[in-house]
Order: sequence, then structure tokens, then C-alpha cells
Amino acid sequence: METKEFLRRYAYVYCYVAAFFLVCAGLLRHTVEVSGQIENFGSIPVIVIDAGHGSPDGGATGVTGAKEDKLNLQIAKRLEALLSLMGYETVMTRTTDDCIATEGDTIQQKKMSDLRNRVALINALPAAVVVSIHQNHFPDGKYAGPQVFYAGDAEELARTMQESLSQWLSPGSKRAAKKSSGVYLMQHIRHPGILVECGFLSNSDEERKLRSAEHQKKIAAILAAVLTERIANTGKSPA
Ligand SMILES: [Zn+2]
Repeated sequence: METKEFLRRYAYVYCYVAAFFLVCAGLLRHTVEVSGQIENFGSIPVIVIDAGHGSPDGGATGVTGAKEDKLNLQIAKRLEALLSLMGYETVMTRTTDDCIATEGDTIQQKKMSDLRNRVALINALPAAVVVSIHQNHFPDGKYAGPQVFYAGDAEELARTMQESLSQWLSPGSKRAAKKSSGVYLMQHIRHPGILVECGFLSNSDEERKLRSAEHQKKIAAILAAVLTERIANTGKSPA
């Protein structure tokens, strides 16, 4: 039994890593074509993984009840595991179901305290690239597919990320990366950052996929591959 269990686990890890490097290989070819201007990410940047929302702010709710804050954290943890495996230094803005508010009585006040704390944590880092993970929601359930927003000097990263996510998760999507506007975190961070809406919780097919471990692993692998490829393009590599 123990040997079987070991083999099962070994096979799982092997498939996960193999799939990741296959995605990397595909993306490298793809990103070379779209790489233009290179961002200045400063000295070897820490990758900040920001899982959006957190109790008591659950974010959006899916058509069959999936909570955005839970999915954001699940994907963030998968991304963190991959980046650590590759030797990159990461910082998670939250690691539990709760937001990181330190004051406030109402949900709205806690939400503001939480966002201010995230910005302070990010801005205290000497060099960082931020990836904020969210899920989209729209009254009309027909919309699906990822959407990337950017802040600061991260337009190329956002474009590459949008094209790679669309290519792998939503083939045929013509969605383009957009400059973030009106999002507190994105307006206040002093490092380059992207906000990734991984998919629409208002679309029942996509909500089902976003809840699945396989789809979450795919998202994490694409995020990791594009982030590290862009960092490598700036001439920096992990210690
Ligand atoms: Zn959100």
C-alpha cells in the first residue's frame, strides 16, 4: 500500500512538472514573437502574489455559489508553489481565508484597511513585480475568458500575459490587456503590477472550470511561465 501510494504521488508530481515545462516551452516560442520593449523591473524582483479579497469580503459569487476569495487563494497558492520550485522569491499578501485588515467595524472599512495594508506591504519592497489574482463577474452570463489589467511599467508583461492566457484558456479570444483604472491597489502600488481576472464566475461553464484543480494548475503554470520569462528578459535571474 505504501509503495503504491508513493508511486501515485510521484506520478502526480511528475505529470504536474512535465505539464508545466511543456507550457513553458510553448510560451517561450510565443512570447519571443510578442516581446518588444522590456520593462525595468529593477534588481532581481520579488514576485508579489496578491490573492484578491478575503473574509469578510468574499468578492464575486459564481452562478452555483463559488466564492471568488476562495478561488483566488487556491490559484495564488498553486502559483506560489511553482515559483518557489523555480527558485524565485515570493511574497503572498494573504495566506489564509481572511483579509489582512487591521482596523474598521464595517465590511467597507475593513476592506479599505485591507487594501491599505496590501499597498504598504508591496511598497515596502525594494524591487517587486505584482500579480493580483481575481475572478470576473458580469450580469450577462455569456461572457467568458481571462482579462488582464496593468499598472505602472507593466504594459508589455500584461500584453504577453493576456495573449498567453487567451491562447491556452480561451482560444480565439480577441480580448486585449487594459490599463487599470479605479482599482485602489493598482493605483497605489509603486512597482509594476498586473491584475488577472482569470475568468467569469457569471458564466456557468467557466465557473465549473475555475473550481477544478486541473484548470487552476493550468492558470498557475501560465502565470509562472510568463512572469519568469519576462523577468529573465530584463537580464535578471533568481539567486
Ligand atoms: Zn475581485
